[in-house]
Amino acid sequence: MTTTHILGYPRVGEKRELKFALEQYWNGESDVKALQGVASEIRKNNWALQQDNQLSFATAGDFAWYDHVLGTSLLLGHVPKRHKNGFPDLDTLFRIGRGQSQASCGCSGEAASDMTKWFNTNYHYIVPEFSADDKFELSWTQLFDEINEAQKQGHKVKPVLLGPLSYLYLGKEVEEGFDRLTLLPRLLAAYQGIFAKLEKLNVEWVQIDEPILSLELDAKWLSSFKLAYQVIRSDVKVLLTTYFDSVVDALPTITELAIDGLHVDLASAPEQLSEVVEALPENWVLSAGAINGRNVWRANLVEKRESLTAAKEKLGERLWIGTSCSLLHSPVDLELETGLSAETQSWFAFAKQKVAEVNWLAKALDGDKQAIEYCEQYSQPIIKRQQSTSVNKASVQKRLANLTPADAKRSANYAERSHHQKEVIKLPLLPTTTIGSFPQTSEVRKTRAAFKRGELTQGQYREIIQGFIQDTVERQQAIGLDVLVHGEAERNDMVEYFAENLAGFQTTQFGWVQSYGSRCVKPAIVVADIEREQAITVDWTQYAQSLTDKPMKGMLTGPVTILCWTFPREDISREAITNQLAFALQDEVADLQSAGINIIQIDEPAIREGLPLKSRDHQEYLNWAVNAFKVSAASAKPETQIHTHMCYSEFNEIIDSVAALDADVITIETSRSNMELLNAFEEFNYPNEIGPGVYDIHSPNVPSVEWIEQLIEKAATRIPVERLWVNPDCGLKTRNWQETEQSLKNLVEATHRLRAKLA
Ligand code: GLN
Ligand code: ZN
Repeated sequence: MTTTHILGYPRVGEKRELKFALEQYWNGESDVKALQGVASEIRKNNWALQQDNQLSFATAGDFAWYDHVLGTSLLLGHVPKRHKNGFPDLDTLFRIGRGQSQASCGCSGEAASDMTKWFNTNYHYIVPEFSADDKFELSWTQLFDEINEAQKQGHKVKPVLLGPLSYLYLGKEVEEGFDRLTLLPRLLAAYQGIFAKLEKLNVEWVQIDEPILSLELDAKWLSSFKLAYQVIRSDVKVLLTTYFDSVVDALPTITELAIDGLHVDLASAPEQLSEVVEALPENWVLSAGAINGRNVWRANLVEKRESLTAAKEKLGERLWIGTSCSLLHSPVDLELETGLSAETQSWFAFAKQKVAEVNWLAKALDGDKQAIEYCEQYSQPIIKRQQSTSVNKASVQKRLANLTPADAKRSANYAERSHHQKEVIKLPLLPTTTIGSFPQTSEVRKTRAAFKRGELTQGQYREIIQGFIQDTVERQQAIGLDVLVHGEAERNDMVEYFAENLAGFQTTQFGWVQSYGSRCVKPAIVVADIEREQAITVDWTQYAQSLTDKPMKGMLTGPVTILCWTFPREDISREAITNQLAFALQDEVADLQSAGINIIQIDEPAIREGLPLKSRDHQEYLNWAVNAFKVSAASAKPETQIHTHMCYSEFNEIIDSVAALDADVITIETSRSNMELLNAFEEFNYPNEIGPGVYDIHSPNVPSVEWIEQLIEKAATRIPVERLWVNPDCGLKTRNWQETEQSLKNLVEATHRLRAKLA
């Protein structure tokens, strides 16, 4: 019988029970015991599910109170110095993740550790902080307690552990002149301690995640693996798990390791299978990550079985079947969805359904007749979908097939456009503007929710939202901004809003995926060819423009960002999806322009995070990503000014692609880095206009006039003042009106002072 397992299961609970329990605990509304109770109930259900589906193991150690990298830090007794305070407990963990509240300590509060994206997913982890004198000691028993807990419930447990090299690699040095790899020997001693405990717990197999093996590691890191795995060798068998990309490059290193099996991700890199099978040492198992752990689609089990037959013949019982990565990145249970059509429902599988897929696929590979039949019948909807004309729309495909370089070209170059724009849009030196959203007050959110529940008619809703727009426009006028926005009161989220208003997307009720801690996101799903059936933003924007003589900036979310923050189709490429979006947005740009909107912003905050894991794949991605943005903007006439916005602080590696977007104006996040990131723009000689953020909207602090003034002056030493804009870092939706108005008044005042100086 084929051995089956999953790499991990969502820990948030079917209806985000962990989220609510955590937040209650943090708000002081419940105690540790109540929180522990919710968590053990979730684990119990997760393990029972794996047992019900006859998986060979119940995976333990995949639970995390905040994120699993932070969990590993605690397991290793590796707490940032500023958070050390005796024996680490759950509150220590939360302090590292969330920062220490000033009220709790009566002090200024110690800062949280940094958080960053987990590879190319939308999950985030707390970055381990390393100093030269760091020590590691087992002090936190969560892993062992949970193994115990699962064993008591009658499960055969396979614990999961983040590997020592990935743990080190994913962290950062917080001291100058020291290399965190030098901590490896000390770290390995702690891992030896972990293994000794696992032996005592009679663990047969442990899953060690080393996802960094799918990156392009330099020799220094790669060559550390061999010794490391020798050092931690014990009687517990090791399944080394890799995911998110191919590990073919690293195979010479991997096959030398003192381990017992390898797991590879066949969802993101199916092509690696034959090479991996070929290279697999004789006594190892190969765990085939066949069921995609990070998307929502039902598997075509017939096809999966075929693709694994040769490996099965060669490896026999040494072939295991599993999910490609942890199911952490999938929504939990499709059965909870009540709003999907039967057809759409039959296209999906969430975490719970994927566990069943693992089992059926393994049985079918074993030649079980009933399972083979089941797989055939189960795969029908997803096979039928390939021919569906409601999925594959002739009109969209025709437009896509005819896409040529001309579709991505504006009719004039920047110099000429800028000339036209100056005539049509009369703007002062250092024009002031904002990034789009204004405070989303509870009234704003309540209005949208009431409309969604059907408690407001379309007419009533429109009137209330127009009221918010009017208020927002009046406030901006009073503040004295030059380019206004309508404020985005009708949008819950910059991607979801477009997904709801474009044909080709499906939204869900409970399709939550953990982002970090108690934060979850509910991405829409691209289910069909994307079409814009009617204008989306024109009515609101036109209304806003009717209230003022100042230019009103239209506000769109760019094609790459929509792609990155939704679940993509798997039957067509990411590039094709993005181009479909680009055409839809191109039409929206044309309609906004016809409605008299002269400035249109196309936000692309996600363009950088969409980069593939391997740098050799970057250029290809950037080429089509940039092209799609340009297709979106290409319907703009020379006198229509296209803005884009990106909120991050690392442009160096993609600056030429950012320039290639050829937006007339780009607004970026700079205030926290004290304008340092402008170096990239200066060195590159960025040709168009730039609005470096001068107000950090992530903090409630109101920046002073002087502070903003010196930031603009600093920016002006790098970018010619004729091409500088003045604006906040990002949208203001999370701020309140009071701090927003005061900050923007200061921003306008600082600009006035500089204009006077320069006059
Ligand atoms: N226009 C969006 C806003 O202001 C941009 C948000 C973003 O960059 N993440 O909210
Ligand atoms: Zn932003």
